[in-house]
Amino acid sequence: MNNNTPTRLYLSEEEQPKKWLNLRAFMKNKPAPMLHPGTLQPATAADLDPVFCKECIEQELDETTELISIPNGILEFYRAYRPAPLIRAYFLERALGTPAEIYYKHEGTNTSGSHKLNSAAAQAFYAKQDGLTSLTTETGAGQWGSAMSMACAFYDLDLIVYMVKISAEQKPYRKALMETYGAELILSPSNTTNSGKKILEKNPNTGGSLGCAISEAIEKAVSTPKCRYVLGSVLNHVLLHQSIIGLECKTAFDKYGITPDIIVGSAGGGSNLGGLIAPFMSEKLQGKSNVKVIAVEPASCPSFTRGKFAYDFGDTAQTTPLIKMYTLGSGYIPSSSHAGGLRYHGMNSTLSQLYHDKLIEARAVVQTDIFDAAVQFAKIEGILPAPESAHAIKVAIDEALECKRTGEKKTILFGLTGTGYFDMSAYMQYNSGAMSDYRPTDEELETGFKSLPAT
Ligand SMILES: *Cc1c(COP(=O)(O)O)cnc(C)c1O
Repeated sequence: MNNNTPTRLYLSEEEQPKKWLNLRAFMKNKPAPMLHPGTLQPATAADLDPVFCKECIEQELDETTELISIPNGILEFYRAYRPAPLIRAYFLERALGTPAEIYYKHEGTNTSGSHKLNSAAAQAFYAKQDGLTSLTTETGAGQWGSAMSMACAFYDLDLIVYMVKISAEQKPYRKALMETYGAELILSPSNTTNSGKKILEKNPNTGGSLGCAISEAIEKAVSTPKCRYVLGSVLNHVLLHQSIIGLECKTAFDKYGITPDIIVGSAGGGSNLGGLIAPFMSEKLQGKSNVKVIAVEPASCPSFTRGKFAYDFGDTAQTTPLIKMYTLGSGYIPSSSHAGGLRYHGMNSTLSQLYHDKLIEARAVVQTDIFDAAVQFAKIEGILPAPESAHAIKVAIDEALECKRTGEKKTILFGLTGTGYFDMSAYMQYNSGAMSDYRPTDEELETGFKSLPAT
């Protein structure tokens, strides 16, 4: 075992990455193009223009530029909270009795509490540069809305957040945080949009879903002057911004002579995992590394492990461009008993292609196992993780225990995507023994697949 690594692997300001890495540029099998939902032709910049900021569209469609400079206006924001700590989990290694070396990248040190601020800062900066005055978005668990609220406060933009109703009820302090930063919160489904009204007519008591909130936020953006929509995951420009996570890890690892054998990340829409693996996977694609990547998803929303690789909509109202991805169908709504986050029906197209080509693996885990791992980690390493992050913790622990069994000294890196201070109602549910596990039956998944469009 290498016991010479410091507990925190520091980077100086000069050593911090100043370019993002575009993973698609290194792929022989590129992800399939986004399609216009009407014509079924590849979506053009003009198609996307009513919805997204210009620079984000350019980045979304760019699959050849390997490195993209981070503008100074974003770098200065990053410097306020980055580099995120890269920590050797000595306490966890000792508690597990594993010969493995375990490292985690802690993205939860900023006030919004997650990695999502990395893309929120970029998207707000570009919106300001385009001369926009407001943005709309949706938030499920609340981390993305919190990150956008912070970024819009910094870059001086108005923000409307459609928050999934059931999440707002579970997380009242998330809502308060966003409002403190100046965002306007609307609980979704709402009467402020046609798509919200339609869903309420069909199902007045619904707690909402991320897909529905997306429909509402897009409808609001395209019908408001000088306004665009921002999305916190799934899309390739979001993965590009999140590559800062992996680039910082790679720079620090190179400095200390460390090479990861296994990288583990939670997978909701794929942004933190895509960002964490970016520089390591680019080497694997060039034949310079054989790193094993494991995506971890909830058993109740198993896009990779039980989904179909197909073109699908990003939202419930079926208005977005079609994305070729592993998906449960935009009509799939996970069980309301699910408390662990990561409840999106689809997955980023780049990660979907890598999974399809067997360059990454995926595992689905039930939520009581997730919270077991979360509490174990909190007690040993001291940090209270977000339930989403605990998906990665659980599998990193499993891999470290496998090393103990085989005696192999592997180096494991996992993404600690955020802190769980706003998730205490889920922890309370777990602590009281009231948390249950849920695996959808094949029949339940079939109803989601029926919502897949014919292409
Ligand atoms: C949003 C979120 C995730 C999952 O989203 P990805 O786009 O898959 O990264 C994971 N962890 C935390 C803390 C989050 O807020």
